[in-house]
Amino acid sequence: MPKVATILKTGAADEAAEEPPGVTTVKCEVEEEPPSLVAPIAREEEKPPGSQAHNNRNKFFGHIQDEQWNDWRWHFRNRITTVEELTKFIPLSTKEQDHLKLVTKKYPLSITPYYLSLINPFDHDDPVRKQAVPCFAEIALAGVGYEDPLEEQRNSVVPGLVHRYPDRVLMVLTDLCPMLCRHCTRKREWHKGGWVHTSAEIERMLDYIHQNPLIRDVIISGGDPLTLSTHRLEEVISGLRQIEHVEVIRIGTRCPVVLPQRIDDELCSMLSKYGPIWLNTHFNHPREITPEATKACDKLLRSGTPVNNQSVLLKGINDTVETQRKLCQGLLKIKVRPYYLFQCDEVQGTEHLRTSIDTGIKIIEGLRGHTSGLAIPSFVIDLPNGGGKIPIQPNYVLSKNEGELVLRNYQGRVYHYRNPKGMGPSGNGHKNGKRVAEPALWPQRPIRTPALTPGARVENRAGVRP
Ligand code: SF4
Repeated sequence: MPKVATILKTGAADEAAEEPPGVTTVKCEVEEEPPSLVAPIAREEEKPPGSQAHNNRNKFFGHIQDEQWNDWRWHFRNRITTVEELTKFIPLSTKEQDHLKLVTKKYPLSITPYYLSLINPFDHDDPVRKQAVPCFAEIALAGVGYEDPLEEQRNSVVPGLVHRYPDRVLMVLTDLCPMLCRHCTRKREWHKGGWVHTSAEIERMLDYIHQNPLIRDVIISGGDPLTLSTHRLEEVISGLRQIEHVEVIRIGTRCPVVLPQRIDDELCSMLSKYGPIWLNTHFNHPREITPEATKACDKLLRSGTPVNNQSVLLKGINDTVETQRKLCQGLLKIKVRPYYLFQCDEVQGTEHLRTSIDTGIKIIEGLRGHTSGLAIPSFVIDLPNGGGKIPIQPNYVLSKNEGELVLRNYQGRVYHYRNPKGMGPSGNGHKNGKRVAEPALWPQRPIRTPALTPGARVENRAGVRP
């Protein structure tokens, strides 16, 4: 049987590039047969993780050698970025194609061959497809929500650096992502095309961090910082490690999910030199926990890099207790801690994927007590206007007074719990007869902000939502 769609060819040079490889995308079309001739793949929620991926890799990319398939640069170069290319893998009617072309004018498309291989092309409601393939509702409901609900620009202190909380900053190195997730909080930025901060701009960010000794935690994000070469990333990380007061470095990336090949030996060996480094990633559905993703997380863990997961609650994708239980338990099996479940932000172009806060509360209610606490993420809302994250959870406190709380457990049983009095070291909020002061929450020392050079760009992208 002829190959289904041989549309992707390796670019001329596979060598490591200093810039993200997508910048020099080389594509070649050699179509042999439309995807509609592929035998239908049934919806396979119950199949072991990864089996679907292997199915579609063989059908779509069977002609690609393992050496290329295992090379993240090959995947990056060969991202599917047009409706015409997409149609070679996923059957779309002419009307659907016309609609998607309109959508992608406003919100572009980018899917790695690996992530495409996880999609069941014949299921419109496939939870993996919904995260990657554009949908007409993105523009049909475009008037609902805000372009930048978190008002991220307000907290940019130098281009690429966001300082919202006293002891943490966010370094935005690039706006490139291997895959453009349809629910992205920062999809307003996509049409601007890819950029990477220059060495001089990164130097200014490091200077700012150096001058502000309260900063002990730096989040490197984007876009996806792992779209940079390992060498470039190491320059940033080693620069941070030379700043004495930087204790923790965090990396936000969706690569373990959409491009697990990126987690290679070179990267892990580099990360192992600069710990403690924590990595936050973004699995949304149990089908994403494939053998490739498992291997990527295992490599990170063996390099001494703990991996946490921050998922987004998405309608029709992961908005049931059952799916979340499978996701969170699956993550624990690969030693990834479910950390946050985000309420999807009020972002224009995502309304069709948003669901109610009640859904999130019911999910947490359905997990708490029914599975290990380790498998239960915090359900959080990132407040508009830069208000920060607040946890939302079912109400287990039925009533309380100074001496007692009336509580319910996960089975609905009611318990009375004696409430010990007081606060602070002496147990009553006083020490040596004086009231103990509440700890200060915002810096005691002023934050120094270097003056912007005239015309300098202050990025309003404030990091990955992995
Ligand atoms: S920033 Fe995060 S959510 Fe947005 S496209 Fe990139 S990986 Fe996806």
